[in-house]
Amino acid sequence: MPDSLLIAGVSQLLTLRGRGPRRGSALSDLGIIKDGALLVRDGLITAVGTSAQVEALPEAREAEKFDVGGRVVLPGFVDSHTHLIHAASRAEEYELKIAGASYEEIARKGGGILNSVKKLRAATSDALKQRARNALKQFAAYGTTTIEAKSGYGLDVTSELRILGLHRELSAEQPLEIVSTFLGAHTVPAEYRGRAGGAEKYVSLLLEKLIPEVASAKLAEFCDVFCDRGAFTREQAKRILEQGKKYGLSPRLHAEQLTRTGATQLAVQLGAASCDHLEHVNRADIRALAKSRTVATLLPGCDFHLGLQRYAPARQLIEAGAIVALATDYNPGTSPTVSMPMVLSLACTQLRMTPAEAITAATINGAYALRREKRIGSLEVGKQADLAVFDVADYREIPYYFGMNTCWTTMKRGKVIQKPQF
Ligand SMILES: [Zn+2]
Repeated sequence: MPDSLLIAGVSQLLTLRGRGPRRGSALSDLGIIKDGALLVRDGLITAVGTSAQVEALPEAREAEKFDVGGRVVLPGFVDSHTHLIHAASRAEEYELKIAGASYEEIARKGGGILNSVKKLRAATSDALKQRARNALKQFAAYGTTTIEAKSGYGLDVTSELRILGLHRELSAEQPLEIVSTFLGAHTVPAEYRGRAGGAEKYVSLLLEKLIPEVASAKLAEFCDVFCDRGAFTREQAKRILEQGKKYGLSPRLHAEQLTRTGATQLAVQLGAASCDHLEHVNRADIRALAKSRTVATLLPGCDFHLGLQRYAPARQLIEAGAIVALATDYNPGTSPTVSMPMVLSLACTQLRMTPAEAITAATINGAYALRREKRIGSLEVGKQADLAVFDVADYREIPYYFGMNTCWTTMKRGKVIQKPQF
């Protein structure tokens, strides 16, 4: 049989099989097969089961064999919230934050997002692309096979379109899947501040020029807004996301990160795919999310990096029945990491999620947050062979070892994209 691959020698095969998305106690069900194997053809999974079941298939006997030597296999992580394209770190602000300056104080002094905007506008496309390419290799090295990527450090027509164009070029040039989101509404750019009606003028630019252009060039699937104190109001977010929807861009939202603005309720009303951060949600917000199909995406890397004590109420969200996902929020200001295993460690120790819940949130529920749950996020017949192999004896060791990389190899559509380590 041509092009068939047998992945064998799996001590624990975390299939995540069954209906997605997962809510409540279903987050704990990893569908583990002990001594498992997988058969892959043309990038898709054709059989999953115990070694005895899969290796007995005629196709398995003819297939090329890849023995993972008793390691743990799970679906590749789906990182549903990143700000992939940016020009440089903001290490200079890191020290200010350690000395006690708040994220908002730094932003008011021209730091924060505006600092990254200045750096991005001055950077060449080649430099931006090279930085992103390096990050994508790192994502794969930590077991991630699909990422969402947002614009939002350009904040003018040329720069925003340039970022989204780079998402498209990078998608074509390297193996990770990149899901593109337009986040022109990240913050009001400097040139619109300090003049009467400046913020409204920028919103008009988004509504009348950028959203139509992004949609007509098919440069994004989703439209996002940073709805918070110092960024956009709930009313502005509503207009921007409704205009996005009119042009075929599905909504998602940065909500209740620094303060409670009511953005979660707006996300639910608009049928947003996801509503992210949620450190300041109240009980009514949790109830609304639980009754909806909007994913509650938690980003504990931000709170960790900023040294904040208040994490999102993951236990309450899970117990209420919300669809909880986890993501890195990879960005230079608040969460400079590409490591989903580190996010799992934080989810366990800070959000009090179990290792099983955290893995479900980082795979099938992340896939649902990107509306790709039919293709990725679990290891089932007909789905893409996107998987990560971890050099651990038990899946719980993935979050247990923190700040270490135990990912041994990563495969995208049945091809090794990160060669076996050590
Ligand atoms: Zn973000």
